[in-house]
Amino acid sequence: MPSASWSTVQLAEFLEVFEVLEMLDAENMTRIAVDRVAAAFDAEVVALVLDETVIRCLGFPADAVPVRLLRSASEVRSSILNAPGIGEVHSVSASVSTAGCTMVVLRAGSPFDREEETLVRSMARALGLAMTATDRLTESRVLAERLSERQYLSDRLSQIQKSISHRAPLQEVMDSITQGAAELLGADVVGLRIVGLGDDGRPIASLAGYPDEGLDHFRSIPLNQGFSGGAFVEGVLVSTGDYAAAARTLGTAPQELIEAAMAAPVHHDGRIVGVLNVASRDVGRVFTPAEQEILLRLADHASLAVTDAAAVHALRDSLEGERFKASHDALTALPNRTTVLEMIEYELHHADPAAPLCVLYIDVDRFKLLNDMYGHSFGDRVLIEVASRLRNAVREEDLVGRLAGDEFVVVAPGISAEAAGALAQRVTLEMTEPLVLDGRGTQVSVSVGVAESAAGLSSEELLGNADVAMYRAKTSGRDCVVSYDVQMRDEMFERADLEQEISLGLKAGEFVPLFQPSLNLATGEVHSLEALVRWNHPTRGQLSPDAFLALAEDTGLIVDIDLCVLDEACRRLAGWTQLHPDLTISVNLSVRHFAHPEIVEFVAEILAKYRLHGSRLWLEITESMVMANNEMTLEILRSLRSLGVRFMVDDFGTGYSSLVYLKRYPIDALKIDREFVDGLGNDLEDEAIVTAIIRLADALGHEVIAEGVETAAQQDWLIQSGCLYAQGFLFSKAISADATEVLLSQALTVENGLL
Ligand code: C2E
Ligand code: MG
Ligand code: MG
Repeated sequence: MPSASWSTVQLAEFLEVFEVLEMLDAENMTRIAVDRVAAAFDAEVVALVLDETVIRCLGFPADAVPVRLLRSASEVRSSILNAPGIGEVHSVSASVSTAGCTMVVLRAGSPFDREEETLVRSMARALGLAMTATDRLTESRVLAERLSERQYLSDRLSQIQKSISHRAPLQEVMDSITQGAAELLGADVVGLRIVGLGDDGRPIASLAGYPDEGLDHFRSIPLNQGFSGGAFVEGVLVSTGDYAAAARTLGTAPQELIEAAMAAPVHHDGRIVGVLNVASRDVGRVFTPAEQEILLRLADHASLAVTDAAAVHALRDSLEGERFKASHDALTALPNRTTVLEMIEYELHHADPAAPLCVLYIDVDRFKLLNDMYGHSFGDRVLIEVASRLRNAVREEDLVGRLAGDEFVVVAPGISAEAAGALAQRVTLEMTEPLVLDGRGTQVSVSVGVAESAAGLSSEELLGNADVAMYRAKTSGRDCVVSYDVQMRDEMFERADLEQEISLGLKAGEFVPLFQPSLNLATGEVHSLEALVRWNHPTRGQLSPDAFLALAEDTGLIVDIDLCVLDEACRRLAGWTQLHPDLTISVNLSVRHFAHPEIVEFVAEILAKYRLHGSRLWLEITESMVMANNEMTLEILRSLRSLGVRFMVDDFGTGYSSLVYLKRYPIDALKIDREFVDGLGNDLEDEAIVTAIIRLADALGHEVIAEGVETAAQQDWLIQSGCLYAQGFLFSKAISADATEVLLSQALTVENGLL
């Protein structure tokens, strides 16, 4: 009879089995436990019964386990049974686990006493606990394995993620995805293709487990084709364990040796932009749901990489755009001032001292006027055309830039000043081609300044010199080329001072008109008085228009000068009305007035102020104004005409008036330019021109006035040719208002000798 100590020892020994539990799997553990139980009780049979089955049995051969007998034994605590091959046996059963596992112990000898029964139950219980623990352990081991797999997966993914967030090149990220997929899924071939991001319109691709040579072919396969095409078209994961059959179904040629395959779509911006596909050559291989999950995760990462790369692309594009914007002019896309200066600076440092650098400073003539007359968008298109003509005119190695407004520059490296002058001529020639924009023909000319680099000169200084030369080109009549020389700089400063002085002079009332009469050659009477501005300069004395008019035109100060002259001329004329109620006056108007309708109001105000009828006023306009054939100009002329004001085309013959325009405009008189009057009596050509002008005026019903008449021969010729009116030093120079008053108070005939 076993003693209490016996059972304690047995149990302790039994439990020892489980101390090495960690090294045991469930299988081994139950085997050892059953052995121990059998030994402890000297039993013939020990079995573990679970539900309908015997999961372990000691004492019967494996193929002759009396399942029913053992099951029935398991259902009662103790009984006596007849075991096959053994005979009568005592049985004891005890529950091993709550899951329904029972231990059955059969002994042929003595029956089990209470202590033994208790020990059987204790051992069963211990085994139960150990088995649970083992299960847990297995579970946790599986878990641990899974965890480490997951750890690996997540390591892999975070590695990919990191390369994405570190802005690794997309190709690199894609390679790490395909590499990761090959490792994580144990796949033989992994491919990833993404469309819409490559520069050549072809997909970006990455292959793992495939020779590099295959990449090009892989890129050329349309993404919607083949087995993986399903993922691209449907936007879902596709998987097959029978690749050949899948390929047959699709009607595509199966790739050799591929057994299993799956593919997942790659997304960007709500669209499918790529496919991640894996393939295995392992016979019987099927990708499990977990593996499919991994593929989806990897495809997600590819999507992330694409989205990021697209963002980087966009960012880079916009950065490049920003950089371009910062360095180029938006209208013409030419390098801007900063870039031009950088270029000059660079060239100055790198230029061969033997081959100098030249800079051409180019300014469009009368651009502001063009802009004012036809509108800014027309002006813009002129500038674009000028930019393109400049590009045509220069050499390949020259840089064309836009400095501001209508100012352009050509940086010409390795060129002599002489060659640069020739280049500049080519530029002016390129501009002579008539320009037709919006069906409107116009003519563009440029003034060009050329400057050559010299030791110690900075980019700013070189450009400045070219600017100075350009300024000189402007003042020398525009549409020409001038090369820089040192004195020009002083003149430039003088001009800046002059501009300032004109402004001050205007405020101080220093601009006043002189008056030059024009005469009726038939009667010798004064026909009209032309107001010609003079500047009573505080230190330089009285200045003629040629000393300040060009600058006043350029700066726009001429508008105020004209208004000042107009006001004073009308004031004077009003004063002379009593004596000569029909006397008229003519005032020169700059073309600048015809861009703004304010002149109409101003003239109306002045006429009202001095109580003059509009017919007492002539306005002298130039041929270029007529030629502009601009609606606003026409509108202004008509409005002024409605006040009774008459118009005279000054310097007629020097421009290129179109007869159509002459007819269209409300013109009353043509003033023959002095240039043609000069040759009257000795130059047949001049005489022919003047004759033509007289006939033209006659045909159009206009008056005709010859200006600059200096000799009696010219006067005679004019009288002979039917020119009724004349003006010139032969009769009178321009004289002050006071002198005019004296003249008017005396007599108004040539005979009285106005000179
Ligand atoms: P313009 O309107 O053709 O004026 C005639 C110019 O020829 C005047 O020069 C006059 O003094 C000069 N002149 C007149 N008769 C003779 C002559 O027989 N021989 C020679 N050699 N010259 C003669 P001025 O006063 O120096 O004016 C020059 C130009 O300046 C004018 O040419 C006109 O275009 C412009 N101008 C004058 N005053 C004004 C003004 O108030 N406003 C505007 N916008 N321009 C003006
Ligand atoms: Mg005039
Ligand atoms: Mg004139």
